[in-house]
Amino acid sequence: LRQKQKLLDEKRREALNNIIDIKGSIRVFCRVRPFLPRNRRKNINPISTGLDKMVVKLSGGAKEFEFDKLFQQESSQEDIFAEVEPILTSALDGHNVCVLAYGQTGTGKTYTMDGVNDKPGIVPRALEKLFSHASRDKSSSLTFSMSMLEVYMGNLRDLLAPKPICRAYETSARCNLSIQTDLKGLVEVEGLMEVQIPDLGKAKWWYNKGRRSRSTSWTNVNETSSRSHCLTRISIVRKWDSDAKTESSKLWMVDLGGSERLLKTGAIGQTLDEGRAINLSLSALGDVIAALRRKRGHVPYRNSKLTQILKDSLGDGSKVLMLAHVSPCEEDVAETVCSLSFATRARAVESIREIPED
Ligand code: ADP
Repeated sequence: LRQKQKLLDEKRREALNNIIDIKGSIRVFCRVRPFLPRNRRKNINPISTGLDKMVVKLSGGAKEFEFDKLFQQESSQEDIFAEVEPILTSALDGHNVCVLAYGQTGTGKTYTMDGVNDKPGIVPRALEKLFSHASRDKSSSLTFSMSMLEVYMGNLRDLLAPKPICRAYETSARCNLSIQTDLKGLVEVEGLMEVQIPDLGKAKWWYNKGRRSRSTSWTNVNETSSRSHCLTRISIVRKWDSDAKTESSKLWMVDLGGSERLLKTGAIGQTLDEGRAINLSLSALGDVIAALRRKRGHVPYRNSKLTQILKDSLGDGSKVLMLAHVSPCEEDVAETVCSLSFATRARAVESIREIPED
């Protein structure tokens, strides 16, 4: 049975790749977080999942959502990466790639992107893969560089820049970078550090520095990091030995801020402002993806810093993967439906179906 399932999965993946090449390049995967020890006993599971469909039970009926791939509670980091890898490594073939982890706070976005000690997530695994491809490539040479930044309340903060000498500096230079667009329409964050990563060791060193820099800048790590977006960019340059041709591409891996609605959280003051900033940029992201999907002339990139920065990697010729994260808990069901609706709207085909109550 396992063999059969594996074969089916391979066939699906192949078919999916073909479909994506024809229809466009936005794929949506969904991952359901397992129950955590703190919510194991008091909850019943309102979600039932199939291979690529999910049914969420609500008081007035149920909603069915469809994805390109669905990861169940027991899915491992390896399972996720096996499906994400072909998209990530297409950056080596000159495509701009953008992987976005979306969902309510606490649903496992950081777990999927960064991972924990012995269960590394997408970013560290992607770094390993890029270097192993580079070492096997005989016809061209690949060079990589890395940048990391955080978008918080509309400000851009460099996560790889040296530690500020004083707090005043922290709130000025490195904390408030601006975005420039050149004559060709290419976007660059002015002053953002870009470090060369000649080998995997250096790549991991810089990446861990960026992660630490994110977490130490706030007094309340979990709370505040959920209200900022964390972006890791790998710039790739490929030079062919046979001629003077070079090719450049970008791979963005983004841990988005929590998508929860503000009214539900009862946020006030600074928390409310932070939540508003996240909600605005996430809805700007939704608008950009919707415009791209409908192949509308005008794509509203300029409505948020997040979409401005990612412009080159969301549009034509690039590959976008949205990883929607949801909680299995009953108390989160309203947020789950919001996240799934957002994610399915990003897909190339309409994929929400109302199921009336019996
Ligand atoms: P988010 O980034 O969405 O706010 P986190 O990644 O911080 O959420 O996850 C919240 C908690 O759930 C963390 O303790 C994390 O280790 C745990 N967790 C999330 N996803 C999983 C998973 N798939 N397996 C095991 N633990 C998980």
